[in-house]
Amino acid sequence: MTRPAGAGSVSGGLLELRSQADALAAGGRPPPCLVDPEPFTSDDPRARAEAAAACTTACRLLELCGLTALMSEQRWHVWGGVDVTTLAHDPSARRAILAAHLGNR
Ligand code: SF4
Repeated sequence: MTRPAGAGSVSGGLLELRSQADALAAGGRPPPCLVDPEPFTSDDPRARAEAAAACTTACRLLELCGLTALMSEQRWHVWGGVDVTTLAHDPSARRAILAAHLGNR
């Protein structure tokens, strides 16, 4: 797993993610969460699971997104192909699970 440029801080990572998502959208290949954001933040875990699958199959920002979630300690919604909402609420356990998920790519 490599650290993408711009992901050196929480705000830098979030800005970099947004910038790259906008660039992909401008090039006609928007990340699925920009096309239809609702399932990524849905209260329905099945919808979030489908959104996470869409990340894995159709998003070029998977690693950056997952790293951004790690660094910014996200607790809710779908990031980097992971439904973070379902992960342990203990921060260190959540970080370990997400890091392992990203490392297996
Ligand atoms: S990995 Fe998923 S949540 Fe992250 S930018 Fe891509 S589509 Fe959006």
